Amino acid sequence: MNTDFSWLEWPFFDDSHREMAVELEAWCTANLQTVDESNVYVACKTLVKKLGEGGWLRYCVPAGTGGALGGAYEELDSRSLCIARETLARYHTLADFSFAMQGLGSGAISLAGSSEQKATYLPAVSKGERIAAFALSEPDAGSDVAALHCSAVEDGDHYVLNGTKTWISNGGLADFYCVFARTDANAGSRGITAFLVDASTPGLIVDEIIPVISPHPLATLKLLNCRIPKSQILGQLNQGFKLAMRTLDIFRCSVAAAAVGFGKCATEVGIAHALRRKMFGQRLADFQLTQAAFGDIATALDQSALLTYRAAWVRDVQKRVPTRETAMAKMAATESAQSIIDRVLQMFGGKGVVQSSTIERLYRDIRALRIYEGATEVQKLIISRELIKQFGERTPSQPGVKP
Ligand SMILES: Cc1cc2nc3c(=O)[nH]c(=O)nc-3n(C[C@H](O)[C@H](O)[C@H](O)COP(=O)(O)OP(=O)(O)OC[C@H]3O[C@@H](n4cnc5c(N)ncnc54)[C@H](O)[C@@H]3O)c2cc1C
Repeated sequence: MNTDFSWLEWPFFDDSHREMAVELEAWCTANLQTVDESNVYVACKTLVKKLGEGGWLRYCVPAGTGGALGGAYEELDSRSLCIARETLARYHTLADFSFAMQGLGSGAISLAGSSEQKATYLPAVSKGERIAAFALSEPDAGSDVAALHCSAVEDGDHYVLNGTKTWISNGGLADFYCVFARTDANAGSRGITAFLVDASTPGLIVDEIIPVISPHPLATLKLLNCRIPKSQILGQLNQGFKLAMRTLDIFRCSVAAAAVGFGKCATEVGIAHALRRKMFGQRLADFQLTQAAFGDIATALDQSALLTYRAAWVRDVQKRVPTRETAMAKMAATESAQSIIDRVLQMFGGKGVVQSSTIERLYRDIRALRIYEGATEVQKLIISRELIKQFGERTPSQPGVKP
């Protein structure tokens, strides 16, 4: 793998990020050359354990007092999450997936869990001993997630959960799920609460394993009269929607980073191929059409990476919720990566569509990133809403500009 670390000189990073990136690169080279994927469930379980033993899941949780929770930083550090995902995605999609889900699945605990919940779950997540999942989507509530139906009805010291959750990554593999359920039928997004549901809870059923173009553990879950103690409520009653959005605000940026990683991997294999492949008396790389493609690709990659690390930096350093910046990064990086991978696949000709070649694999791996954690269309609406909020109330200040 080409180890170009020049981007780490960008002003978004500090030395701890630079050291981490170099160490993770070395770890990936030593540990991710071959991944047995004959069973994706086994593969992901093994990868979570490996990532935990390597110390990389420490970036998925906060440190807590005296480091008791196992995290690398006092609070989740977006730049580290992004560096980890970009690097892992360049080596293996399932390694990136396993890392990402430990963060996303436990994110609501890190943000809003009680001391006891944090102490019970987070150290085990950081060591790869407990696998996490985030159960928000439902068959009729994906992009319009505030429409979710899964119900939670109070019954003494418990809530009783009934409903269906679908598209749940790590479904059937996770040790616990962060489940978002409706606690007030008439309050829309203000009537949703987050619950920590252990996989062993009676009534929690893996209803269907969903096979997708880039295989990873994915399932539909049914909750049939699951009795969840009130002590397993995450954050405050009826504040679950905000908690879900706060969690996604952090991890959506890391989706952009994974897309940068996939795009860089495609670029590397594309250049290697173009330098080797001979046709019409010269190498594919010698044609100006090929060079123009790489000019576009390199620029798109830098655009994506700059947007991604800007969003992470805004959250970490400016301590501001980077809603607009994150939406821009997610949209630009995932759309660009899809286009880069497609263009590189074209350079491979027939070999590009041979099953399990690196580029064919990337072509499938990238697709879902444009859909989950907010489809591209949703990101456009967010960017536009934020822009109008910022400028809408202002009278143009430049001379000659009339409202
Ligand atoms: C591989 C994968 C893993 C996933 N993992 C998880 C997980 O771990 N946990 C979880 O809770 N969910 C998960 N999801 C669910 C994911 O978040 C949803 O698929 C996503 O939010 C889109 O919802 P939907 O599939 O219901 O599509 P819909 O909501 O039906 O949207 C379909 C399409 O409509 C378009 N669209 C949406 N809004 C608008 C609009 N306002 N205007 C115009 N067009 C619009 C978009 O193109 C969108 O793709 C996962 C999904 C996939 C594919």
